[in-house]
Amino acid sequence: MSALASPFGPEVKRQQPLAKYTAARLGGSADFLFIGKDPDFADTLPVLQRAWELGMPVTVIGGGANILVSDRGIRGLTIINRAARIKHECFEDGITLSASSGANLIRLVRYCHEHGIGGMEWAIGVPGTVGGAVVNNAGAHGGDVATSLERALVYEADAGERWYAVEELDYAYRRSALKSREDRRFLVLRAVFALESAAPRSVMERMDAYNAYRKRTQPAGASLGSIFKNPSGDFAGRLIEAAGLKGYRLGDAQVSPVHANFFVNRGEHARARDYRALISHVQRRVKAAFDIELELEIELLGDWD
Ligand SMILES: Cc1cc2nc3c(=O)[nH]c(=O)nc-3n(C[C@H](O)[C@H](O)[C@H](O)COP(=O)(O)OP(=O)(O)OC[C@H]3O[C@@H](n4cnc5c(N)ncnc54)[C@H](O)[C@@H]3O)c2cc1C
Repeated sequence: MSALASPFGPEVKRQQPLAKYTAARLGGSADFLFIGKDPDFADTLPVLQRAWELGMPVTVIGGGANILVSDRGIRGLTIINRAARIKHECFEDGITLSASSGANLIRLVRYCHEHGIGGMEWAIGVPGTVGGAVVNNAGAHGGDVATSLERALVYEADAGERWYAVEELDYAYRRSALKSREDRRFLVLRAVFALESAAPRSVMERMDAYNAYRKRTQPAGASLGSIFKNPSGDFAGRLIEAAGLKGYRLGDAQVSPVHANFFVNRGEHARARDYRALISHVQRRVKAAFDIELELEIELLGDWD
């Protein structure tokens, strides 16, 4: 397609590399790329609506912390969501904090600390955006979105804006009704969390403890966090290690010697396909050794074989 044939205005760029928008620093290009910044989505919604009208596939990327983008890239429109307003209101029985979905989750925890708000400390080491966390039910240290969220505002292709109460999102371990929707014709716009007043000092103490724990147990550098979900009653990292794969390397993708459920990017030449091959290898070996199918926690986006 020539540049003249773009169905969008100049704000939508063609053939843009996506690696820099992902935590693993991997993957090919988006056919069309739009970066949305307006906290009320005034810039994003017309572009999104246009793509839907054209029947074009749309992919939303928040922080890119839970996705592996194919080396062949992503067809159709990719939206990078940077809508990032955070505000809160205090009531007698608690505090509600409202965030645009492109707000960085770690920044949100720091905002809570600055304003004496407790309840989100668990998220201090979880990279990515509020939107990604709402879709994935991100969690750590015994907390998760399901226990902190009150409601989320979602923009849907068929229905427009719709509020979902937390109960309607069917949250379970790293799952939600949104994540399992096959159509994917929705954009999380805003999340409202039910939190409480807390002394900034005690918030900081919890943040420090969680950060120190991560530093001790997880590798630094480009990675995708946990690659597999923990199977019921066990840990993916323990199984991978017991299968003799800690430190195993394919190309520049390596099972971390620090934590076996993290795969690290060892060089400038790692490809998404090395990661994909490493994932399959680990799944096969764990299945052969323990008869357990490791299920992906990360999502594969774009064109794969
Ligand atoms: C070092 C490291 C540590 C990690 N530790 C943890 C951890 O402790 N706990 C944990 O749960 N996760 C962890 N993760 C994974 C990741 O941080 C979470 O899954 C996070 O919630 C992903 O958010 P994101 O904005 O990056 O989502 P992305 O990776 O950008 O997207 C994830 C999915 O959400 C969709 N999505 C994102 N935003 C929207 C939106 N506004 N509307 C509609 N769909 C949307 C995307 O289309 C995609 O399907 C870790 C990752 C890394 C790299």
